[in-house]
Amino acid sequence: MEESTLVIIKPDGLKKSLTGNVLTRLSETKLRIIGAKVVQVDDQLAETHYAHLKDKPFFSELIRYIKGELHSDSRVMALVYWGEDAIRKVRTIAGATNPEEADPVSIRGAYGRILTSGLFENVVHASSSPDEAEREIKLWFEPEEIVYDLYPVKSVQVQETTKQGWA
Ligand code: UDP
Ligand code: MG
Repeated sequence: MEESTLVIIKPDGLKKSLTGNVLTRLSETKLRIIGAKVVQVDDQLAETHYAHLKDKPFFSELIRYIKGELHSDSRVMALVYWGEDAIRKVRTIAGATNPEEADPVSIRGAYGRILTSGLFENVVHASSSPDEAEREIKLWFEPEEIVYDLYPVKSVQVQETTKQGWA
């Protein structure tokens, strides 16, 4: 089944200049990139993205991690991949959540580590189910930022807004 999945290259991936390596590994899937951008993650985006983990003991450290506070680099790269069996293919190449248990040839096995705090610093996020992928893609991307029409859209009236243009 053709499906979409959200990938985030986390702040450790950007700080360690692993972006190219990660994209090269993911290109083995032959999936299509249909959206991509660099994002600075604020509290609201971080907490909404990881809302299902808010009761975990590592939650506040996880929020600091995805916001870049552990790497003094607040950038992440968000990508939408599309194609046959996309969620499983990306999670296989990403590897297990715990980088010590991850296959050494997976992205997390090769480049991840466990911090002394116990947090898994594991380079990439990958959606884990079609429902999660839809929720996450809609959270991170606007419809016009994705080149395919993935989900139904509606017209939204925008009044009295200003936006930045090039000076
Ligand atoms: N995480 C952690 N310790 C855990 C479980 C998760 O540090 O015991 C972190 C890790 O960075 C992981 C993220 O929280 O990627 C989200 O956890 P999830 O269970 O959704 O794992 P994933 O889907 O990323 O493999
Ligand atoms: Mg998850």
